[in-house]
Parts: sequence; C-alpha cells; structure tokens
Amino acid sequence: MWIDPSALSAPERLLWELGVTEPGHIDLAAVAAARDAQVIYRPLDGCSARLVAGSSRAIISVNSGDYTGRKRFSLAHELAHWICDRKTGSFLCAKSDIGPQNAEAKSVEAHANAFASQLILPDYLVRPWAQGKKANLDVASALATDFRVSRTAAAIKLAKRSDTPTCVVCHDQSRLKWHVRNAAFGQDFYVKPELHQDTDAFTMAYGGGGGKSQPRKESADRWISGQGVYRMTVQTQSLKLTDGTVLTMISLAK
Ligand SMILES: [Zn+2]
Repeated sequence: MWIDPSALSAPERLLWELGVTEPGHIDLAAVAAARDAQVIYRPLDGCSARLVAGSSRAIISVNSGDYTGRKRFSLAHELAHWICDRKTGSFLCAKSDIGPQNAEAKSVEAHANAFASQLILPDYLVRPWAQGKKANLDVASALATDFRVSRTAAAIKLAKRSDTPTCVVCHDQSRLKWHVRNAAFGQDFYVKPELHQDTDAFTMAYGGGGGKSQPRKESADRWISGQGVYRMTVQTQSLKLTDGTVLTMISLAK
C-alpha cells in the first residue's frame, strides 16, 4: 500500500504512523497509549465518556454499558479532545455530544466528532474498501462490520463519499431526529420532519418489524420537499437501530 503521508488528515496520520494498513489494525487503545492516555471502561452515569487531562498524561473513561461501535466512537472522540484541544482539566461528554451525525457545526464537540470519524473510518482505508460499491445500508452494514463501527457512522461515511445526492436521516415515531446530507444533495431540498405512512421506515418505527428493509425506489416527495421534487424518484433503504429509532439512506435516483 502506497500512501503520501502529507496528503493525510491529522487523525489518518496517527494511524498511518502506527502502521495501520487494514481495518483490523485500527487499535484505538494503541493510539491512546502512543499519546500517553490511559483508557478505562466503567459504568458512567449521565455521560458516554470522560477525559481527565493532566499536563502530559490523560485518563479517558468510556461507558462500559454502551455497545462496541459506540464505545469506539466515544474513545475516538475523547482522544480528539486530548490531542487537539490540549486543555488540562476535565471533559464530560454527553451522549448527545458524541456521534458521527454531529460533525459539521463549528464547535469543539463537532470538531471532536469529525476527528473521531476519521480515526475509526480513515479515508485512506475506506476509499479502496468502498471502490465500486453502492451507497446503501447493505454496504454500510458490511463497512460497519469490517471496521467495527456503528452502522450510523458507516452509513454517514458512505453517503459523504457518494457522488449521487444522498442523505442519511434518523426518525423516531414522532419526528426527524437528525439528518446529514452529502455535498451533492442540494441545500434547497428539505427533509420532511415526519415519516410518510407508506414508507418502510414508518412501519419499522411503529413496531412492524426490525432489521433492514430492501432497497426500493419511491416517490421523492414522501421524504423531501423542494422545487420539482414531486417529479423525482429516490432510492431508499431503512434499518431499525437498537434504540428504536429508524435510520434511512435516501439517494436521488438518476
Ligand atoms: Zn466531547
């Protein structure tokens, strides 16, 4: 594998310098150790992860009750605070602060999430992995397995890489909780706040089956609003997450 290290982002360079050349090599504990941070897994009340930073050493606590993909993202997020923010003291990061869906705002938390996303899904490994594959939730699930990350993080990564206008949305029964769009997805389209009753996501949100739906084509105006949408078609696929919310990837069909 040939890589130009000067073209890598800061989190990618951390991995590259540790000799990471395949997904199975991404060892966040090793990244932490290389940066003098000790990692402890323990039950945490009211937050997902915590960083206590001294002048040269840090202790990162990660909530032991979270599932693997979440724990890895939380650890990567605290490593970002330790490596980038370099403030001594304590960071307590709430569950709502930590997540790949919150990586675009100009805040310390969003920056830590963007850094964490690159640390768990570095472009230099995802690019060859995703070569020639579609952006849908079947592929996102495979990416999540190979890189040991959440399906949400994997879906966002694939969507962001896609040339097709694509967004990833997450609903509960009552509303749109968040959405992330890629660069090709026009800013003049709006994701509808409520689930349309004819969508697979609606059936899943209201308890009618979990797992993952088959990719399907449907009318774009079930999902988005904006000029000309009523004439458009989207490809969608939905899956039910462990917290009962429903993740959907929406791509404008050509
Ligand atoms: Zn944080």
